[in-house]
Amino acid sequence: MVRYDLSGKVALVTGGARGIGFATARALVARGASVVIVDLEGEATERAAAQIHDARAFGLAADVTDRGAMQRAVAAAVERFGRLDVVVANAGIASRVATFRAISSENFERVLDVNLMGVFRTVDAALPEIVPREGHVVVVSSIYAFINGVGAIPYAMSKAAVEQFGRALRLELAPHGASASVAYFGFIDTEMVHQAIDRDPLANAMLKSFPKPLHKRLAPKDAGEAIVLGIERRQPRIIRPRRWTVHSVLRGILNPLTDAQAERDEATLQLVRELDGRAGEEQPTTA
Ligand code: NAD
Repeated sequence: MVRYDLSGKVALVTGGARGIGFATARALVARGASVVIVDLEGEATERAAAQIHDARAFGLAADVTDRGAMQRAVAAAVERFGRLDVVVANAGIASRVATFRAISSENFERVLDVNLMGVFRTVDAALPEIVPREGHVVVVSSIYAFINGVGAIPYAMSKAAVEQFGRALRLELAPHGASASVAYFGFIDTEMVHQAIDRDPLANAMLKSFPKPLHKRLAPKDAGEAIVLGIERRQPRIIRPRRWTVHSVLRGILNPLTDAQAERDEATLQLVRELDGRAGEEQPTTA
């Protein structure tokens, strides 16, 4: 396939004020694109844009849970740069780990509203611009689309749903010359991981049950570069660290085995009991 040339193109990145979104915006501008950085706070988006480029980066406050705000963000992108070719639906949150029985229903719904419905609202608002330009959509999923989501059920549900959304959308866009990628990340060194894992002993203990090689963390820059390369190649899947590709490919075989093993593992069961004990406690989300 011919390389999709990002030079002169316009992209909108949600959750672009920090982490993977910020690194993606920076990598897009380095390829010659202009970028609209969407995030919750206006000042943070303006600071992020100023760090990237004085003319080709533009910060805009919008909440992905607000359909009208996302439509206005797309309109502002077109007004500012004259077009919109690419959207990266990246904004996402994680909740403090807890079992389904312990998590508050507000948090459960909030995670799905941002991570799943937020992706839907972002893409829905952007597609009328992107399709006629034969552009590209990236939806940010996670390895939680295919590993067991114990302790993080709404997060895993949202990421599995986003995978299905992106996969089918790609096929639906194919007759129109536009395309879509699903991005799956393992562990990327961002504020989300610091808040949801590093500062929580139970989340840390859960991580220890992963085979050592899968603990590997990449810098946000590596994730941003991977997304941009995926756009240039119109790749169906973007997976980093690459070692997670094996699990993704073999999920039909590996998942029943690892699930059965976890059910018999006393350390895992003890952890679940402790996560049950979080009912009624404060359960902050990462944004
Ligand atoms: P992060 O917390 O560092 O950044 C997320 C950004 O999204 C923040 O700037 C936040 O303000 C913004 N955001 C949150 N809710 C929003 C909303 N309602 N509207 C607009 N913006 C909102 O996290 P990150 O690690 O950079 O995560 C980016 C994406 O990558 C998320 O979808 C996350 O689930 C996914 N992901 C991250 C990892 C990882 O290891 N860091 C792994 C797999 C997938």
